[in-house]
Amino acid sequence: MVPPLPPIRETPPAASDRAAPGAVLDLLVVGGGINGTGIARDAAGRGLRVMLCEKDDLAQGTSSRSSRLIHGGLRYLEYGQWRLVREALHEREVLLRIAPHLVRPMGFVLPHVAGMRPAWMLRLGLFVYDHLARRTRLPASRTIWLDAAPEGRALQAGHRRGFVYADCRTDDARLVVLNAMGARERGAHIRTRCELVGARGQDGLWVAQLRDALTGQTTEVTARVLVNAAGPWVQTLAARVAPARHGLGVRLIKGSHLVVPKFWSGDHAYLLQHSDKRVIFVTPYEGDTAMIGTTDIVFAGAPECAQVSAEETQYLCAAVNSQMRCTLGAADVLHAYAGVRSLADDASDDPAAISRDYVLELSGTAAASAAASADGAQVQPPLLTVLGGKITTFRRLSEHALEQLRPWLPHMGGAWTAQAPMPGGDIAGGSIEAAQAVFLGKAGFLPAEHARGLFDRHGSGAARIIADAGHIDAMGRHFGAGLYEVEVRHLLAHEWAISLDDILWRRTKFGLHLAPEQRDALEQWLAGTQAARVPRAPPLG
Ligand SMILES: Cc1cc2nc3c(=O)[nH]c(=O)nc-3n(C[C@H](O)[C@H](O)[C@H](O)COP(=O)(O)OP(=O)(O)OC[C@H]3O[C@@H](n4cnc5c(N)ncnc54)[C@H](O)[C@@H]3O)c2cc1C
Repeated sequence: MVPPLPPIRETPPAASDRAAPGAVLDLLVVGGGINGTGIARDAAGRGLRVMLCEKDDLAQGTSSRSSRLIHGGLRYLEYGQWRLVREALHEREVLLRIAPHLVRPMGFVLPHVAGMRPAWMLRLGLFVYDHLARRTRLPASRTIWLDAAPEGRALQAGHRRGFVYADCRTDDARLVVLNAMGARERGAHIRTRCELVGARGQDGLWVAQLRDALTGQTTEVTARVLVNAAGPWVQTLAARVAPARHGLGVRLIKGSHLVVPKFWSGDHAYLLQHSDKRVIFVTPYEGDTAMIGTTDIVFAGAPECAQVSAEETQYLCAAVNSQMRCTLGAADVLHAYAGVRSLADDASDDPAAISRDYVLELSGTAAASAAASADGAQVQPPLLTVLGGKITTFRRLSEHALEQLRPWLPHMGGAWTAQAPMPGGDIAGGSIEAAQAVFLGKAGFLPAEHARGLFDRHGSGAARIIADAGHIDAMGRHFGAGLYEVEVRHLLAHEWAISLDDILWRRTKFGLHLAPEQRDALEQWLAGTQAARVPRAPPLG
């Protein structure tokens, strides 16, 4: 018997006095993707008063549409992007340490193909990749004979030599939520479904109008610094800020992914070279499915309308079919998604060659502000705009962003995020495997694959989710495939989930595993629960 539901209450920020009603915020961050939430967490941990507003759900933009790799980016070496690759490789190590439940090592098989990059070039590239940054947790690359090794069985005959190297996989949308939770733990206000509709400089501060999509209310907040982390909407947002900022050098590039039934055995992934010189990732995805990506296409529309085209589906299937033992076509696609990158324009003709490195554009200088203020002239408050970047580099990007803002916010603390575990990543003492084994013991009343899924999603937080359960009946309703009511209630109360898609596609990927009638049942349950939910507070005015 499922116990009656108490009303669901959202977790408030830890130190709410820091942003009491009417108080001037230090930082207003616009955009709840990986970069906005990363900056908000870092800033809150330095003692700043922070608010983040996101017009939709957390990670609803590009940050839930990536290839889900925490990687240095082997292919960027070809374009000479040493700084980016070195930093990303360094961050791979840091993220393995601070979010070990969500960032997991993965082996990549890179077959050598006659007529494409020569074997010596692949070997040299991998040697550099192994040594460009300190590597303590992942193995070095090695040669593999594909005609004998099990990894070669999924490839077409004729592949002899290849290489295996290590990178990491993650769940991009969950990494965003962890950042937001970490920011809230340190006092930041996270407002989802809350759009910045306008902002103007006044008396050296920003006065911003925020519209709450759920209540329909618009409120004003005041902040010393505004951060535009709106991803592919960066230009739209720049135009809403007075004085409007036009002409940002941005290129929008669309990339698409297909999810198909997994067609090889083993946990490893493949990196295939394609005849057009691009590379295609084929990675395990959520158990028995595989992800294929990606494309690089110049994009001109509204980012929310980006779709996977029939040509992209055909291109990706053909690329895989030409090298692997499979005959994939549109009918095999279980799920497909497209994301749009906003990249700093480096005038490259080839969309794949545009640098993925980030640029932080700061309007005004502290010295100019001080001079204007001494003259009695109108002081333009600082606006920091984020262009480009990767899921992998969000933490360093956030550190760089805050260091740039120090002249305006001299009271902020120092860098701290390299050592502090992200929520769920506080694995006391031992390894992530040992921590998982302890959790599986506690959750022995659950089918093992359901317990493993909970741990993968929540790390050390999984124990709190099942804390009051102790028996499968106390997990509440089972919506199917391992999604239990206690977890859904946790997502609603503590992870800002509101809609069915928030739960099925961003906080989890149960969208792939629930049958249509199970989804309908969850939607109905949700409608009943939302009616009993404690109304959320309006944004601070
Ligand atoms: C196809 C593809 C594959 C990729 N693969 C990888 C990978 O494997 N590894 C990797 O490291 N990186 C990868 N990336 C890069 C990575 O996904 C992006 O760099 C990153 O997600 C960008 O995050 P962001 O926070 O800048 O933008 P977004 O995630 O887009 O966040 C911006 C947010 O701002 C919000 N917003 C916009 N306007 C407003 C407003 N007025 N008010 C309030 N909110 C607003 C939007 O709703 C959105 O949620 C990939 C990118 C693509 C496109």
